[in-house]
Amino acid sequence: MSLDVLAIAAHPDDVEQTCGGTLIRMAEMGYRTGVLDLTAGDMGTRGTPEQRVAESEVAARHLLLHWRGNQYMPDARLENTITARMTLAMRIRELRPRVVILPYWEARHPDHYVCGEIGFEACFLAGLKKLDEYSEPHRPSKILYSSLYADVKPSFIVDISAQFERRMTALLSYVSQYGETAEGGTLFPNEQEIRDRLGAIARFYGNQIGVKYGEPFVVKEAIQIDDIVAMPVRSM
Ligand SMILES: [Zn+2]
Repeated sequence: MSLDVLAIAAHPDDVEQTCGGTLIRMAEMGYRTGVLDLTAGDMGTRGTPEQRVAESEVAARHLLLHWRGNQYMPDARLENTITARMTLAMRIRELRPRVVILPYWEARHPDHYVCGEIGFEACFLAGLKKLDEYSEPHRPSKILYSSLYADVKPSFIVDISAQFERRMTALLSYVSQYGETAEGGTLFPNEQEIRDRLGAIARFYGNQIGVKYGEPFVVKEAIQIDDIVAMPVRSM
């Protein structure tokens, strides 16, 4: 197994909201993409872990993923322990991703920022030769932080105008989370509500680069540009 892009997320249905359009776009370009969900959402009010993992497999087909897995770590109490880091590091050695997408390091839900932390540290550990003598060391060359729900200026935005509908279909595969229910309410929005909300967010980011829909990312290092004349996105 050798993936071009691996997104590591805290919960099934996270990538479908934050970087799924980019994953679809990369798969359409011929790259091998994958998603590793750290938990199965076992603390969620609606749906069982089995349901959510089954739904994530349906979503994986819509996202055109080459691989998807679940680590079954404890939901809502994800912890950056040595066991968690080592488990994830071994996964990274198996999957050998060139690029890893992590959740942005500040978030409302602790699982999201803890996932970003474990992910970053596991990527580093995975590159250490002596970590494990039975597997080959591997370190991704690039770490991207998905910053859709963070109030920060993106380092770059991917145009997902052509992928937005497919991403929406992937998200709505989580019938246990987004299906219509009698109770309704704001925590569990119904289909129209979730369409409106995610559409508005994607439009917001798309607008920043002059396209319909976009997904934002942050990188910690500088971005190299070779041709300043051909740089996209108008300044005025
Ligand atoms: Zn989540």
